[in-house]
Amino acid sequence: MKRTEAKAPAQERRLTGHPVSPGIAIGPLHEAAETALTIPERRLEPDGIAAELARLEEAVARSRHQLQKLKGRLSAMPEGSQAELAPLLDMYLHMLGSSRLLRLVKARIEQDRQCAEAAVQAVAEAQAEAILAQAGPDRAGRQRRADEVREVARRLLRNLTRQPFRSFEVLPQGSILAARDLRPAEAALINPARFAGIVTAEGGLDGHTAVMLRALGLPAVLGAARLFDKAEPGCTVIVDGESGEIILNPAKASLEAARRKLAAQTRARRALARLQHLPAQTRCGVQVDLLANLELPFELPMIAESGARGIGLLRSEFMFMNREDVPDEDTQARSYQDIVEAMDGETVTIRLLDWGSDKDVESLSAYLPEHAEPNPALGLRGIRLLLHHPKLLETQLAAILRAAAAGPVRILVPMVSVAAEITATRAALRRVWRRLQRRRNLDLPEKPPPLGIMVETPAAALAAPRLAREADFFALGTNDLTMYTLAADRSLPGEVRLYDPLEPAVLRLIHLTCSFAAGAGVPVCLCGELAGRPEAAALLLGLGVRQLSMHGPAVPRVKRAIRASTLVFCEELAGEALAAPDAAAVRALLAQAAF
Ligand code: PEP
Ligand code: MG
Repeated sequence: MKRTEAKAPAQERRLTGHPVSPGIAIGPLHEAAETALTIPERRLEPDGIAAELARLEEAVARSRHQLQKLKGRLSAMPEGSQAELAPLLDMYLHMLGSSRLLRLVKARIEQDRQCAEAAVQAVAEAQAEAILAQAGPDRAGRQRRADEVREVARRLLRNLTRQPFRSFEVLPQGSILAARDLRPAEAALINPARFAGIVTAEGGLDGHTAVMLRALGLPAVLGAARLFDKAEPGCTVIVDGESGEIILNPAKASLEAARRKLAAQTRARRALARLQHLPAQTRCGVQVDLLANLELPFELPMIAESGARGIGLLRSEFMFMNREDVPDEDTQARSYQDIVEAMDGETVTIRLLDWGSDKDVESLSAYLPEHAEPNPALGLRGIRLLLHHPKLLETQLAAILRAAAAGPVRILVPMVSVAAEITATRAALRRVWRRLQRRRNLDLPEKPPPLGIMVETPAAALAAPRLAREADFFALGTNDLTMYTLAADRSLPGEVRLYDPLEPAVLRLIHLTCSFAAGAGVPVCLCGELAGRPEAAALLLGLGVRQLSMHGPAVPRVKRAIRASTLVFCEELAGEALAAPDAAAVRALLAQAAF
């Protein structure tokens, strides 16, 4: 970025890039610069080879640890970011496993006696160049793969040289974040409340970073190639995420025009915010409960602003993440209690620890099966794993029972597929309740909280009448229900992407569960990502859902969609969707029905 020298008023300049995330942002431009990496070129002594290999191993382990940590944060991110980043992080982790990249690096250290940094740099560059030199029409795909190799190398090099990663937190609040390039894993670290917008000199419309920024909801323009030739630190910038225009040092007229657009944008947001105090009910008077999903306690203020009436899903995994030991009963009780108190009388649904499979929780790695499972998603996960570790289960139940003295709480059991799992959990709850009653000076609620189950396996949906005899409520987990129904992971490549909660088979299971539950008088809350999609709200009402739990910011838009519909309309739409041939046809129905 150029330094400020001349005193003459700076001239307005216009640049264009890829309009990646809509919205207008005005603010001072600040660069998140990356310190250049210095790669040492040392030739190793023969007796230094083992130590160098150990140094490489340590950097690999550190890199893997950082990526695992980032994976742990995924559930707190918007759905778009999760879907984009999860497969990418898996790819990075794979490259840091038994990959060709690492084999070649080790060979260079052993045979050519190159230091680890030089070996990583040389091998990664050679691989990236080879990928780029391949023939074929998919240039963008080759570029992405080359970028992935370079990104893994960059992380390894930072960890080998102990040179810090760049930080975004040091930039002034409200600024426009400028970067030469922004990697997807870095986009995951950006707190959207800190910045007005984002501009970069490199990057395209369809890259992983673009998807991540759209999900964050920050106005962003990527790939404005001449950004750093023209911009001076701190200069005022207008970012138009709709047209892709960046205006540096805007003249008075440009600034006024942008402020008008910004005011219109703010008015639209306020109109949504005004819905906060209006009921979520259809035009014909059907009431819907809109609740919030909570992954991390820092989201509580956002939930308060959203107008959500309680927490429909508290993913308790957060308590166990980013720490080496397992939190004890007192620590857990305090943490749940803080949330219950903050919700001020609104119900908090605390889900028991759902870990195992791709839900990797560091502090619990000692509790996982000793041998790698051939199909982890079909293996020990959620309540199956908890029932194998009664102490862990009972400690958590005790903590929740204690927190329930502070306000209304419900307990939710994850990954149930057969009735025996809820029966065993209820037995554990009774044991813990009796034990706590014998302890003195303990505040407890009058009776144990309701115990409900996640309906997120096809078995649970199909066995709903039987499970309704055991469970006090149901929570439809459409994220897993979709995956298990279609036997499809989200990370399947584009040409075979099957994962879609709008697939009629999944809708049918939602409908079945709601009908069975209504017959048995058991309340159902839908808390998968589908709940937060306003275009799907009428369909879900038509399928029989009357409680929706979603990430806080989605509540106003979903409420607006509900207030615009009638039950007759919703049921007709649901009937057509259930009869539709596939998810694409359902999407077309929803687009037609949009208000
Ligand atoms: C679900 O599966 O829909 C759900 C809400 O649980 P999670 O996303 O935490 O697996
Ligand atoms: Mg789930």
